[in-house]
Amino acid sequence: MRAERLLVFVWMLGLCACSHMAQLTGIQSKPKDFTPIVRFVDLKIGETAQVKLANGKTATVKLLDLKSERDSVLHGIWRSTVTVEVNGEKARLLNGNYNLPQLVGGVQIDCTATGDMAPESHEDHWELKKDARLRLWPKGSRLIEKGTFTPPLQERILAGTTWYDNILMSAQGKGKFYYHSGMDTGGVEKLCPVVAATDGLVVQLGDAHLDKKDHPPIEPRYDVIYIRDDRGWYYRYSHLSSIDPGLKLGKRVRMGRRIGYLGKEGASGGWTHLHFEIKAPTPDGGYGTQNGYAYWLESYVDQYHPAVIAVAQPRRSVRVGEGVVLDGSRSWAKKQIAKYEWTLDDGTKAQGACLPHAYSVPGSHREILKVTDIDGNFAYDIMSVLVVDAQPAAPAQASRQRPRQPSVMAFYWPTLGIKPGDPVYFSSRGNGADGYDVYDFDDGTSTVRVRSNIDTAGHAENGYAMTVHHFKKPGYYFVKVSRTDAETGRRGYHMMVVPVGIKP
Ligand SMILES: [Zn+2]
Repeated sequence: MRAERLLVFVWMLGLCACSHMAQLTGIQSKPKDFTPIVRFVDLKIGETAQVKLANGKTATVKLLDLKSERDSVLHGIWRSTVTVEVNGEKARLLNGNYNLPQLVGGVQIDCTATGDMAPESHEDHWELKKDARLRLWPKGSRLIEKGTFTPPLQERILAGTTWYDNILMSAQGKGKFYYHSGMDTGGVEKLCPVVAATDGLVVQLGDAHLDKKDHPPIEPRYDVIYIRDDRGWYYRYSHLSSIDPGLKLGKRVRMGRRIGYLGKEGASGGWTHLHFEIKAPTPDGGYGTQNGYAYWLESYVDQYHPAVIAVAQPRRSVRVGEGVVLDGSRSWAKKQIAKYEWTLDDGTKAQGACLPHAYSVPGSHREILKVTDIDGNFAYDIMSVLVVDAQPAAPAQASRQRPRQPSVMAFYWPTLGIKPGDPVYFSSRGNGADGYDVYDFDDGTSTVRVRSNIDTAGHAENGYAMTVHHFKKPGYYFVKVSRTDAETGRRGYHMMVVPVGIKP
């Protein structure tokens, strides 16, 4: 408490000095809040609302239906679909999960939260009292104001493993589930810089923070930064291995400034990643998480001008024999997509945005998607499917975690602008006991063995193993990292696509 008071006092001193400077230099230090382009509306099934859009036009929006689908492994909701009617036109929208807005009734619309998850979620991230929270933008408009947002990781989009908004993470027991809020993106700890996604005020810096009464979303923790932007939105950056010592509580930061490095601190589960979450005001005066993917993708396209982004997400968990759809339909192209090609890990090749498939043996599968546009530009992504034994557990007996499978988490850095001969840093960590991760770099060089998880404690310094590799020639490399469970002999693996000498 005393420390807090002292900090607030220091912060006020800081402000005083700042306003004095502003007087001297004539610089306005605190810009006014502005109203974002996006509009939010919360609706119950059967309810209609008139929504005034950013261009002054009014849209009539009705929520017709909400449908939840449960997965057979954890028995939680893996997909929610809402049916809406916008200016008389009907459409189905999927909740969160890498989906971009659709044009319906002359309006861009998406669904950022559904009311089916909140009652069974171990935490209410969304503060949604109704059946759906929809976001609307005028036809042809940007999703977020140009120059006001940048990806918090200046990396190739989807290069690291991701768990984005509303993904089912785990069963928590007693009918509760962990549905992810915000965007988790894996990367190499201590090497991958994290930058401020927006201009804004630093309202929390680890355990130090401004008054929670003024900034309700903040949650003090040593590895977490909160920044409030001039839309009045709050941005959470968690699991940082370090916080930039130049950052000052109560001071403004500029978009793109490095604020720390990616890590596995706090409640990361020992997985090196950035948790990035956007909280926006709700109609009831609270703050709810909104899906950040559309803003990340739009600003990534501004910055790196890709022709195609392959998206083979979200990941799935299924049982042996159960049908699953390998889904590349969320892929993006500046012009138009001409072809979707799949190379499955059983050697099968097939075409189509959505590919029905079934697995006959348990294990982790990595299925390669290649998306080509009408000009011949192409990009890759890898869909992850975890297949577990066929016998379904009763919901009451569902374990807290996914069934035990050997698996390995692996990342590389940098992910953009790699030239032939550059050092590429790989880090990996197998699950279970201390053991070896085996790398196949897909370039004809011999495999490399590294020992990881020597210390199984989540935050252990030697949890991850590191290796450096130099690719001699330009091209796409499908790097495999495998791990064999000493007890069961089962093998799990991870695959990453590494572009060398290739623009985004
Ligand atoms: Zn997270």
